[in-house]
Amino acid sequence: HSPLPFFSMLRKLLRYLQPYRRNVILNIICNVFMALFTIVSIPAIIPFLQILFDIEAPVIQKPDLYWSAVSIIEYSKYWFSNLMHTESKEIALAYICIFIVLLFLLKNVFRYLSLFFMAPVRNGIVRDVRQQLFNKMMALPLSYFSEEKKGDLMSRITTDVMEIEWSILNVLEAFFREPLIMFGCLGLMIYLSPALTMFVFVLIIFTAIIIGGIGKTLKKKSSTVQEKLGSLVSIVEEGLSGLRIIKGFNAEKYQEEKFQKENNDYKRTLTHLLWRRDLSSPLTEFLGIAVVSILLWYGSRQVFSGELGAESFFAFLMAFYYVIDPAKSFSKAYYNFQKGAAAVDRVDHILNAEETIKEKKNALSIKKFNHSIEYRDVNFFYRKDEKKILNNINLIIPKGKIIALVGASGAGKSTLADLLPRFYDVSSGEVIIDGRNIKELKIKDLRHLMGIVSQEAILFNDTIYNNIVFGLKNISKEQVIEATKIANAHDFILNTENGYETNIGDRGNKLSGGQRQRITIARAVLKNPPILILDEATSALDSESEKLVQQSLTQLMKNRTSIVIAHRLSTIQHADEIIVMQDGTIIERGRHEILLGQKGAYQKLVELQTF
Ligand code: ADP
Repeated sequence: HSPLPFFSMLRKLLRYLQPYRRNVILNIICNVFMALFTIVSIPAIIPFLQILFDIEAPVIQKPDLYWSAVSIIEYSKYWFSNLMHTESKEIALAYICIFIVLLFLLKNVFRYLSLFFMAPVRNGIVRDVRQQLFNKMMALPLSYFSEEKKGDLMSRITTDVMEIEWSILNVLEAFFREPLIMFGCLGLMIYLSPALTMFVFVLIIFTAIIIGGIGKTLKKKSSTVQEKLGSLVSIVEEGLSGLRIIKGFNAEKYQEEKFQKENNDYKRTLTHLLWRRDLSSPLTEFLGIAVVSILLWYGSRQVFSGELGAESFFAFLMAFYYVIDPAKSFSKAYYNFQKGAAAVDRVDHILNAEETIKEKKNALSIKKFNHSIEYRDVNFFYRKDEKKILNNINLIIPKGKIIALVGASGAGKSTLADLLPRFYDVSSGEVIIDGRNIKELKIKDLRHLMGIVSQEAILFNDTIYNNIVFGLKNISKEQVIEATKIANAHDFILNTENGYETNIGDRGNKLSGGQRQRITIARAVLKNPPILILDEATSALDSESEKLVQQSLTQLMKNRTSIVIAHRLSTIQHADEIIVMQDGTIIERGRHEILLGQKGAYQKLVELQTF
């Protein structure tokens, strides 16, 4: 995806500011005042030097005071020369010193205030973007995440968002504060000496061109740096979640090397980035001093020839300093803007990702499941250019029945089940509930009809109670206990440290596999859905806990319609129909006894398991 052009990027950054208009405006106002006091403090030095060097002030006539920079300077000149005439030198100097201190006090009060108003904006933006990203991640279809690296997504939600914050802040300062100071000082400089001002332009144009060149490559580089960080976080994420296996297979070295490679890559790219970025400020300074030297030489000549007062020249130099400073900030802002732009690109890549599983505009509501589920001529592939995973599937599941899917792993059983809650959409054909294509239905309603228990018990780092209630509303403790009793979980829960309030650790790793599974079953019981999808729910368990889990599953399946994916065929002998799948096709179907009698693929599977 190509980087956005400057202005659309700027618009995008400013869009984040929308909700914080009030604070941004306050910030700008404070910045304006800060700029004002910065500019005013410069000519204040002139009378000081005049007294120090014993130069007679030229303004004797009281000028009219009106609201323009020139008038104010003229007036202050008059005021100070008047002061020198009427008071002693020391007192005049003291006045000026107090005046300067006051100016800088005001300047810095406003500087602080501008930052004060900005703090909630910065953090607010970070919060907003993160929330948007997280919401989007929740909304995106599962297929999106099989294409993207988890760690990369994680680094986008952390570092890229911070990158955006930085660049917005810098852009704000660069656009509202620095120009004010810059143009104010420029005006002052032109007033003091137009000829000298010419040199300043040379510097600005010079640096702008050179810095612009570096900035361009910086954005590209910064993009790669963030990508590398993403890969790095990915490996950490994988490493942590697979630690048990890594240790078991003595694969630490392998993982370490993998990490080391990425880590080195990251270091190298980042170093290149820093080399380039760090070039900017030495370069600016050097260019700056070069022009300052010319300025000193040229300006001093003007002073010698009497075209320019020494004190004015001094003020000019100060003003010039205040022009360089914002120019530096400008270049810094430009760099950060480029980096921020790369981050916005990466964040937008997620925010603009297509939600392929879409709900129709006027989707129908479905509150009850009445007669049947049907797969009609269903074909499916995960990616267009890859092989078909499901091939012309036709299947009717009447209400109240249990359908078992069996077959070698990779046959497409899970995929078939995933189509029902629309985790994926069919590539062709239809999935129909009670005579309606599921694409016509509200996704929330559709999923509300289903309870899913999968092979890997999906639990969250939270209390047992919250893991069971999990998003359901208006649930009483009694209902939860009732559900856990059905799921054979109540007793072991009471035996944990804090009972229902026990925190079960990351992914529930403080519990045994069977316990975890029974909690997910309790969760399904509590949800009380008419349709159940059991995806090899017992296959990961030892036979002791399998028995317990199987008992609770049988309880759960009572009076419901179930699709059961089973490895252990013993568990599905009583299914109403057994579907035998191979390479995405249904090759046999029927009841257990009948299929056994056919002496086909099913019988072979059963035989394999009895030995
Ligand atoms: P089963 O549940 O019968 O073991 P699956 O439905 O999980 O089979 O997988 C069927 C086929 O689909 C397999 O060949 C698998 O490699 C492929 N597959 C599963 N998930 C994905 C995915 N997210 N992206 C691409 N291919 C996938």
